[in-house]
Order: sequence, then structure tokens, then C-alpha cells
Amino acid sequence: MAPLNEPPPAPPQRALVEQIAERGAQLRSRIAELTDRDVAVVCVTKGHPVEVAAAAVAAGFTRLGENYAQELRDKAAALIGPTPEWHFIGRLQTNKVRLVDRVVSLWQSVDRAALADRIAQRVPGAAVLVQVDLAGLAGRGGCPPEDVPALVEHCRGRGLDVRGLMGVGPPGPAEEARPGFRLLTSIADDLGLEERSMGMSDDLDVAIEAGSTMVRVGSALVGPRAPR
Ligand SMILES: *Cc1c(COP(=O)(O)O)cnc(C)c1O
Repeated sequence: MAPLNEPPPAPPQRALVEQIAERGAQLRSRIAELTDRDVAVVCVTKGHPVEVAAAAVAAGFTRLGENYAQELRDKAAALIGPTPEWHFIGRLQTNKVRLVDRVVSLWQSVDRAALADRIAQRVPGAAVLVQVDLAGLAGRGGCPPEDVPALVEHCRGRGLDVRGLMGVGPPGPAEEARPGFRLLTSIADDLGLEERSMGMSDDLDVAIEAGSTMVRVGSALVGPRAPR
């Protein structure tokens, strides 16, 4: 029990909750204009303090996305109230898996066998997405498209629950992301994978037109983040 003289945790800031809820409603109606499919929204809170994560939960978001292991660990520990599903969406070193293995619900950025092995070892049967490199840019993460079937097989061999694929569009005009998003959808179709996590604040429309089932939206919901 908390000592009696400790101040109660501050409730989520009302103005922030309302702002995020309003942007969320706009996002949902935009999605509904584009598709009849059920598209899940992951609210990306990376680079924002825990108060923003708390406000996003209070605004009705049940899935929050984070890119950095330490940041996620600290935020998850500091968050008071209902627990969201935390999605790990960033590049992940194998030795950092242990920092977040108790809080992550969906590992969206599995892009190599060694990472799959470590997750499977720490969290048997964990739900994962295989991240596909759509931009061909070194250092941005993702498995080369041609290697995706083998990595999916590898994950399954380790007992992981492969729900689908994830991809990040190339930087630049949203239109340039279209071929990569289509490629991701066709690989997912070939492999019979349901989830296609693609689309962020700036390329959401293109991603949904190309078959996204899950978008990961940060700045359009919670505002700009501090550069890292
Ligand atoms: C930061 C990030 C997002 C959200 O980006 P916004 O442009 O703020 O919507 C989504 N997915 C990944 C992998 C990211 O790193």
C-alpha cells in the first residue's frame, strides 16, 4: 500500500485528452472514408513523456507504440491506470529484449533470426510481426522482401505466433511508398498472413489504399516529438 502522505497520482490532463480524442475521431473518420475494413490504430507515443501516454489511454487508445526499449520500460512502469497493449515498433538489439519482455504485447519489428530467437526464448509463443524492408535503406530495419518467407518459417519453428508483416515507407512523398506497401500486401497474401501494419501520419492514405490493417500514428495524434 502507498504511504498515506504520498500525493495521489495526477489524473491525465483534460485538455490533452480532449485534443487527442478529437484527433483520433478525425483519424477514424478518414479511415472510414478510405475503407470498409477494420483498421487498428496504434498510437505512437515515442519521444513523449508518460503523461502523453496516459492521455492517449484516457482518450480511448488501447494500443500504444514505442521505438526504444529503455523508454518503453520506464514509461510502462510509470503509467498509472488501465494498461494498454504496448507494441514495440523500433529497431531492437537482442540484448534489450529483456528490458521490455514483460510489457510488450506485439513485437512488430522482428527482422532477423537472432531477434526472433531471443524473443522466443524470453517469451515463448509471443505474438510477432515480421518487418519487411520496403525502402532498401541500410540501417532502417526490416528484412529484405525476398527473405521474408524464410524468416516467417524460422519464427514459427521457434514457436512464435506470426500475425503478419510490418513495413515503414521510405522518407519523402507519400506516393513513393505505394509500391512497397503493395509488395508487403502481396507477400502477406502469399503467406496467408492477416495483419499488415503499414501507414504513419504522412502516408496513411496510401497505406490504407494498399491494404493496411493496422496503422501506427504518432504526430498526427499526439503532436510533434522532440528530435532524438
Ligand atoms: C515513429 C514511428 C511511427 C509514427 O510516426 P509519425 O510520423 O509520428 O506518425 C510509426 N512507425 C514507426 C516504425 C515509427 O518509428
